[in-house]
Amino acid sequence: MEKILIVDDSIVQAAQLKSILDDEYEIIIAHTAEDGLRLAGSESLSLILLDVVMPDMDGFTLLKKLQEQIITQNIPVILVTSLSDVADEQRGLVLGAVDYITKPFHALIVKARVNTHVKLYRYRRQVEWQSMTDQLTGVANRRRYERYSFTKWNEVIRLHVPFSIYMFDIDRFKVYNDTFGHPAGDKVITAVAMTIASHLQRSTDFLARYGGEEFVAISIGDHSHQIFHHVKKIRKAVENLHIPHDGFVSQWVTVSVGGVTVVPDRDSSYEHYLKIADAMLYNAKESGRNTVVWADEKLGQLRER
Ligand code: GH3
Ligand code: MG
Ligand code: MG
Repeated sequence: MEKILIVDDSIVQAAQLKSILDDEYEIIIAHTAEDGLRLAGSESLSLILLDVVMPDMDGFTLLKKLQEQIITQNIPVILVTSLSDVADEQRGLVLGAVDYITKPFHALIVKARVNTHVKLYRYRRQVEWQSMTDQLTGVANRRRYERYSFTKWNEVIRLHVPFSIYMFDIDRFKVYNDTFGHPAGDKVITAVAMTIASHLQRSTDFLARYGGEEFVAISIGDHSHQIFHHVKKIRKAVENLHIPHDGFVSQWVTVSVGGVTVVPDRDSSYEHYLKIADAMLYNAKESGRNTVVWADEKLGQLRER
């Protein structure tokens, strides 16, 4: 069930709203704006019903605070006002509430308005998610990667832990397409993505399709020798899918991988390390493909052969 937060100092009014909506939604109630703000930040909500007139902090102030926090700013807020407060309604809508409902409540109208905004919000999240997802493979796309790498890089600079960037590139894939056709190539890209993704399941791992037959990954917390060892396993897992290829590198479809691990500080540039990962990938290609080449924290090389 999707969750709705009711923020209302009146116990009676909150209970009344709850009884109208609780057959379709999980209802959470806060009787003060402070509690409302806390719950809005910690629960994953589909909507907030916000009473305007409350002692201490009023609904407008809470609305402003919700909009200042990244995690709450998109949650739709419906204001609960009394019929006489046209000015309040106006002010609330200008401040960014999506709608208002007036007291006394008409159950059907409350339900209809709530349902509409919950639906719109769900749709909006879906579209946002899709715009960040690669349509062919279902892994993150370049756009989500750009955001993720930017955010995490800055986090890691503060935390001072190892950060690894690595690139996978399917070997001789142009030949694969020319031999087996583009649709078969698409299936290979998906299978490779699934295999890599199944090995990158920690909350500190991230995988995205970088373009064509290339993937970029980020892992946080492991030292170079640990992550290098793990990525070798991924490289082998792709080969062990046993997807037939032309035999130039292997009889199976394979990937080459280039990576770098760094403990970044304020002066480190993400772009610089991305270039190093790319250089390691180039190096892996030069060394015959189907191999992993890694630059460690001291920029020494780890390689399979
Ligand atoms: P290398 O081993 O050096 O990586 O050789 P390669 O042929 O894989 O590299 P190259 O970059 O020359 O070619 C990549 C090919 O990947 C070109 C294109 O035919 C194919 N490709 C890129 N995107 C897609 C896609 O979405 N679907 C399919 N089926 N093929 C794609
Ligand atoms: Mg390529
Ligand atoms: Mg390639």
